[in-house]
Amino acid sequence: MKMMFTVDVEDWFCSPQLPLSDWERREIRLERPVRQMLELLDERKALGTFFVLGWIARKRPGLIKEIHRRGHEIASHGYAHRLVRSQSPGEFRQDIRASKDILEDVTGDEVRGYRAPCFSMTEWGLEMLREEGYAYDSSLMPHRFNQLYNELKRPSDVPASFRIKDKLWEIPLPAYRLGGLRVPWGGGGYFRLYPYSLFKAGAKSILRDRGAFVFYIHPYDLDPDQPRIFNSSLLNGFRRYYGLDGTHDKIRRLMADYAVTSIRSQNPQIGESR
Ligand SMILES: [Zn+2]
Repeated sequence: MKMMFTVDVEDWFCSPQLPLSDWERREIRLERPVRQMLELLDERKALGTFFVLGWIARKRPGLIKEIHRRGHEIASHGYAHRLVRSQSPGEFRQDIRASKDILEDVTGDEVRGYRAPCFSMTEWGLEMLREEGYAYDSSLMPHRFNQLYNELKRPSDVPASFRIKDKLWEIPLPAYRLGGLRVPWGGGGYFRLYPYSLFKAGAKSILRDRGAFVFYIHPYDLDPDQPRIFNSSLLNGFRRYYGLDGTHDKIRRLMADYAVTSIRSQNPQIGESR
């Protein structure tokens, strides 16, 4: 059983709290960690899914082309990393359309998947994804640990993949059941925070119970030298900067313990739904 390996391709400053005019002044640092992940995937002859911001594709088209040329799936993370609920429906439509267009221009390939910034998906957002020609969403976080996470109401036992709207599939992120709680277990800051052996044990149990596991990580999770711009005395700041220097090794261990692949290659039904 393979784990789905996904990367949200954004840089250390791509936060909904900062406007695009601020992004323009910042140093783009993600090329090194993205190349590190490409090398780790190559070592295992494995594929991954890269949810790319349209803004990043505009700034670094060569990097996105290379990810695609190596056989990985390019999907959309929107254009400007704004929370779905903070946009009007018209703005959201423009954002998901612009990112799809740019990514398809850069790669010459169809973009099928979308992941909402900070997983902030809404019901009307899903409807619009379908209308704009996306085939799947991967934003559903079946826990309530972070207020940014989505507002979708789903049953407590979320299947590994399901049709969320006509012709639109949902590929949810994992959570670990601990008594009555569901604890985030997909990756990112939680992957850095949990000791590797604990993360592995949880992932093993989730894979066994659900038959699927979507892992996610960001380039900045592998960048210990990034400027610290978020207040690290707050919970979000702590989660943002903890354990950055260990992520590369942890991913290598994860790939030694689990075969990984892209969302698209693990879910042939996505292609058939169109
Ligand atoms: Zn993101």
